[in-house]
Amino acid sequence: MSVPVRVAVDRTRCIGAGQCALTAPDVFAQDDDGFGTVRPGRAEAAGPMLREAARVCPVGAVTVRDAAAEPPGV
Ligand code: SF4
Repeated sequence: MSVPVRVAVDRTRCIGAGQCALTAPDVFAQDDDGFGTVRPGRAEAAGPMLREAARVCPVGAVTVRDAAAEPPGV
């Protein structure tokens, strides 16, 4: 069973490598400029590939945090 996590992309770091969208395409996408984004409604998600998406980002722009460890809205 996967634990829900909160995912985010830091656009100030992103270089548009696209690894996040390739690794977990149900959660991450690339915008028209090629920058990584979190798909609408998917900021809190679960799945084994989310931590992998953070791991493969070459610039560390993807963060994955334990959703249960933070109050809603943070
Ligand atoms: S893997 Fe990292 S650098 Fe590449 S699009 Fe995603 S956030 Fe940006």
